[in-house]
Amino acid sequence: MKTLSIIVPCYNEEETVPLFYPAVEKIMNTIEGLEPEYWFVNDGSADKTLLKLRELHEQDPDHVHYISFSRNFGKESALYAGLQAATGDYVVVMDADLQDPPEFLPQMFQLLETGEYDCIGTRRVDRTGEAKFKSFLSDMFYKVVNKISSTQIVPGARDYRMMTRQMIDAVLSLKEYNRFSKGIFSWVGFRTKYLDYHNVERVAGETDWTTWKLFKYAMDGIADFSEAPLNMAVWLGTTSSIVALIGLIVVIIRKIVHPTSSILGWASLVCIILLLGGIQLLCLGVVGKYIGRIYAQVKERPIYIVQEKK
Ligand code: UDP
Ligand code: MG
Repeated sequence: MKTLSIIVPCYNEEETVPLFYPAVEKIMNTIEGLEPEYWFVNDGSADKTLLKLRELHEQDPDHVHYISFSRNFGKESALYAGLQAATGDYVVVMDADLQDPPEFLPQMFQLLETGEYDCIGTRRVDRTGEAKFKSFLSDMFYKVVNKISSTQIVPGARDYRMMTRQMIDAVLSLKEYNRFSKGIFSWVGFRTKYLDYHNVERVAGETDWTTWKLFKYAMDGIADFSEAPLNMAVWLGTTSSIVALIGLIVVIIRKIVHPTSSILGWASLVCIILLLGGIQLLCLGVVGKYIGRIYAQVKERPIYIVQEKK
């Protein structure tokens, strides 16, 4: 008998949790030789999510556990808490809104049991029901990050994945404060197989991810897994220095050849000053972004704070 730890981050999911549990149980009951261990993580919900989790725990105290944070720490922190608490031989990460179809669980388990893979991931092959602009930004993100980072992120890959104990231990050995799971799962390596599926919409409730939040998340992901923005500062500086040097040489030669000629160009001068000032501020901002991440890391604040755990 093997154990599967099911990790479910929940933020304002009072409507979806009572639908999620029976849907997953129905599938789990069909898998022989696999016992579930649920770890719901209440990420500082403002609604009655915690009450629903307590109810589930009372129904089945041996299999259903929950961790409740003292405030909202974000999905990444919730995932980390769940992974730390999980004791199973295999671990699966699922959203509470049933956007990660539980029907994949038997197939994932079978594939891991063959010993050929360490991780079975899922990826969406379409994004029906999602705003066009959001999809466009996501596509751009995958293109950019895969170009500038040595850690490759599979386009459309979800956090929904089943992993072996060995891989989970590797993921947990990364102690970084800013956790970008998509990058971390890829960074640790191991043999991963992706199952494709069509986008499923939330069963109930609403997504908390606005386009702006996703954009910031993407920027953080790039800063966590690439030093390309820092190199960009070096290149911008080098290029503008070379251009300035050429300009200087041209001015000197002109002065020698036509000593009386004067060069006009107040407007162009202002533009050049503004451009260079802008580039300098941009580069400063990029460096600042990395310093901020170093600051967050050296403070060694906990990634989450638990208020209640059962
Ligand atoms: N979530 C969380 N903390 C947050 C935001 C979201 O734990 O601060 C959980 C949420 O309850 C859900 C999962 O993360 O189980 C994915 O969130 P959502 O469905 O809103 O995002 P999407 O599916 O649109 O990516
Ligand atoms: Mg969702």
